[in-house]
This record gives sequence, C-alpha cells and structure tokens, in this order.
Amino acid sequence: MRSSVVGRFPRADRLYDRALARMPGGNSRTSLFVAPHPPYAVSGVGCRLTDIDGHTVIDLLNNFTSLIHGHAHPKIVAAATDAVAHGSAFGLPTEHEVDLAELLAARIPAAESWRFTNSGTEAVMMSVRAARAFTGRDLIVRFEHSYHGTYDGVALDHSGVAEGVAGTAIVLPVADGEALIETLESSGDRIAAVVIDAMPNHAGLVPVPAEFMRLAREATTRCGALLVLDEVISFRAARGGMQSLYDVVPDVTALGKIIGGGFPVGAVGGRTDVMEVFNPVTSDPVSHGGTFSANPVTMRAGLAAMEMMTPAEYARVNALGERLRSELVAQGWRVNGFGSLLKLDIGATPETWWQFYEQGVLVSPGGLACISTAMNDSVIDEALASFARVAA
Ligand code: PMP
Repeated sequence: MRSSVVGRFPRADRLYDRALARMPGGNSRTSLFVAPHPPYAVSGVGCRLTDIDGHTVIDLLNNFTSLIHGHAHPKIVAAATDAVAHGSAFGLPTEHEVDLAELLAARIPAAESWRFTNSGTEAVMMSVRAARAFTGRDLIVRFEHSYHGTYDGVALDHSGVAEGVAGTAIVLPVADGEALIETLESSGDRIAAVVIDAMPNHAGLVPVPAEFMRLAREATTRCGALLVLDEVISFRAARGGMQSLYDVVPDVTALGKIIGGGFPVGAVGGRTDVMEVFNPVTSDPVSHGGTFSANPVTMRAGLAAMEMMTPAEYARVNALGERLRSELVAQGWRVNGFGSLLKLDIGATPETWWQFYEQGVLVSPGGLACISTAMNDSVIDEALASFARVAA
C-alpha cells in the first residue's frame, strides 16, 4: 500500500501509526485523506508549507482555498494575536462582528443582514433552516456532486443519514435548467429553497451557465421558493462573489473559508425580511447559537484578511490563476476552474498526488488548487516547473 512513498516520509509514517491507534483510519477529516496516509504539516509561511519530515512545498491548496493570503500573513497574525491577548471568546457580542457584517453587506448588496457560524457547513444548514422557516415549506432542491458540507440535509453521502432527512432533498443533475423548471412547476409549492453552488468543486469546478442562474432566479421567484447561493468557495472569484459576475440576486448567501482569515468560520447573509426569522425578539424565531460563533479572533482575522482583498488584489490572484491554468493545459494537464481557483484532473489513484507533492506542490487529493496573495509570477514559474517534472 505504501508503495512508492514507503520510507520517504519516516516521521509521518510513525505519527500515522500513533494516529491509527487513536483515530479511525488515523483520520479526523475525510477530505484530506490520501493513501497510504497524508504527510503531516508542521508550519507554513506565505505560500510555503513544511511537513514533519522537513519537506517544503508550494501550498496550492491553502487549506482547501480558505487561506487567500497564504500562511501567517503578518497583518492577520497581528490582528489574531491582539484579539487573543484581549480574550479569545466572550459570552457577549463584540464590535468586531458588527464590523465584519458591515464589510460583507457592503460587498454583497443582496445580503443586507448577516449571522456568523463556525463553518461553511453550519452556514448552509442555517440557510436551509431560514428558508424553511420563512416559507413554511419542507423540501429543498440541490444538485448532484455539489458539496455543501456535512449537514444531513444536504450531505452527498447518505451513510448515517436518516432516510426521512435525505428524502427532504430533491437532487437534480448539475445545471439542468429543464429538470429544475419541471420540478418547480410540479412541486414548487412544497419547495423552501433551491441551493446552488455556481462552481461546484466535486462536479469538476466548472462555472454553471449564466442562463441557468437566470432561469433558477426566475423559477424560484415564480413559485415562492428561496434561492440560496453557496459561495463558501466561490466568494474567492470576485469582491462581490460569483453572484456579482452572474448579476444574480440570491435571497440567501452562505459564506465560509476566506472570510475568517484562516480561522474557523461561516456566515449566512440575506434579505432583511428573510433574515428576520433569526430575530430573537420575534414570536417563534429560528434558534441559532454556537459557543464560538462570531468569536473575536475569527472576526478580527477575517476583517484583516478581507480588508486586504482590494479590487487590485482580486485581479492579481485571478490573473495568476488564469496563467497557471493555461500553462498547465499547455503542459498537457486537464484543468478547470475560474480565476484564482483551479481543478486538475489527477486521476483516481493517489500516484499523481504524491508525485506533485514530492516535486514540490500541494493540491487536494481531488486536484483542487488555488492562488494566494503570497504568490507571484516567479512562484507560479516554480510550481509550473514542478508540474512539468511530473508530466515528464
Ligand atoms: N459549501 C461548499 C461549496 C464547500 O466547498 C464547503 C467546504 N469545502 C462547504 C460548504 C462546507 O464548509 P466547511 O468545510 O467550512 O464546513
């Protein structure tokens, strides 16, 4: 099983043996498992990550696209350190959550009102719950291979999910406008929300056609269902998210990843009237707590990260991403994605992943990659040389 990597990462092998004894499959996060076992990270600076065996790679994964400034950006470290020094979490709200809500509302005009969570999973979960509470309907529509996190109601894998819960989701082929119209025309009065990721990673990271988004907006409005846009990954695409590029106005937006500056985060934002379902002084509000929701460390790190994402920085990381994608295609790789987000077809076995890693680049086991602001053209040159060695 350890085949080609046997003995190359001896400290990781030993740590994995310890992990095996105390964690199922030695694993605590399914998405980052790569056979025979992943290397173990020790530190990261800028665009580079070093593992426990002292191997350093260009980090094109950025914790699954969340670290838009790479590792340990001095301004984010300063913001988070100062927040920790003043108390890492309180049983009271802080000014920082108001600051971040204001920033997000300014960037996403469709979402006037916000709440924070600790993950994208929770953001999607609360989006769906808000839609159900607002519409008084049970069903949702989602799309095949569109990953929205591990909440039962939208889980891609149904092992351990109650049949009744899985049955509340109607699952349609990705970007199938006809199927969506048909479903909304026949059962629209029972559908609370249509949940869309405009560039679903597990479906290949291909942006859905603009025509599909337009159609989804019109059809949901017609039947009174809400349009929930999952921008947990795609908020990277532009300062106003993918919705600004499609010029579509969703009722609810779920965010996560980059808005936490590298700390656990999620956020659900939407139209004021929809978000009112969470208002604690109304008669039957949707209850949404979360011991660490909107904690000041995440809020301040997130604010620092997002304030640095100027239009010029979006343009720069997106251009670096376009360059990496086109030159990878020229090397013979199959690559999808948009802007700073890339998806390489690395095959079903872990062989290519390990070759990339040994040659100096980290991508996800599924081939997801992205640019951080810590990168520049010479880093892209270096990464391309690594990919070229593997291609050869
Ligand atoms: N939605 C999308 C589109 C995602 O890519 C992810 C995570 N990769 C989630 C939701 C869930 O976010 P989290 O892992 O923070 O729970």
